[in-house]
Amino acid sequence: MLSCDFGNIQRDVEMINKSEADWFHIDVMDGVFVPNISFGFPVLDVISKNTDKICDVHLMIQDASKYVDDFHRFGADILTVHHEACLHLHRTIEQIKKTGMKAGLALNPATPVSLLTDVIEMLDLVLIMSVNPGFGGQKFISHACTKVAQAKELILKHNSSALIEVDGGVNLETGKLLVESGADALVAGSFVFGSSNPSQTISDLKHL
Ligand code: ZN
Repeated sequence: MLSCDFGNIQRDVEMINKSEADWFHIDVMDGVFVPNISFGFPVLDVISKNTDKICDVHLMIQDASKYVDDFHRFGADILTVHHEACLHLHRTIEQIKKTGMKAGLALNPATPVSLLTDVIEMLDLVLIMSVNPGFGGQKFISHACTKVAQAKELILKHNSSALIEVDGGVNLETGKLLVESGADALVAGSFVFGSSNPSQTISDLKHL
């Protein structure tokens, strides 16, 4: 939703409601962990109250544990935190799961998949960043495909039920490579909202 038209957010929510998209992906940035500030609770509140789809909230913020209960209250179904931004990761994941939300863990492009090993059994979602977080519309880092395959292997090895999501630079070409590597969920922002027919673009991605 980072790439939607904030002046017409209701219209864009409606478009996605009618589309084949499964989840709303909501990027929350604090201007500290990433050099940009995006929306927070009011936008999540509007989206979650106007959809039956899953609200997948991606926190690019420091001190995420302080806000877990608030994100739950405002309608998040999946809450994803960054490995690089969590000092007490195990505790934060437990805190998310205790609310009933699903817990996700995001890895920046330079963060190795091996760091998931000790928490993979607790996770519902692994988010592989295929750009550096902070801005929409960036170029895809192709090493993400290797990381997806590594994450898939780790998930199978540990009998984890975590899904693999990829965020950044997703289009029909990169999306296909990611699905072939084992990705379960693709996040697309500017590729969808910048296209002439966003709901058709969502459909095209869905049928890769
Ligand atoms: Zn995101």
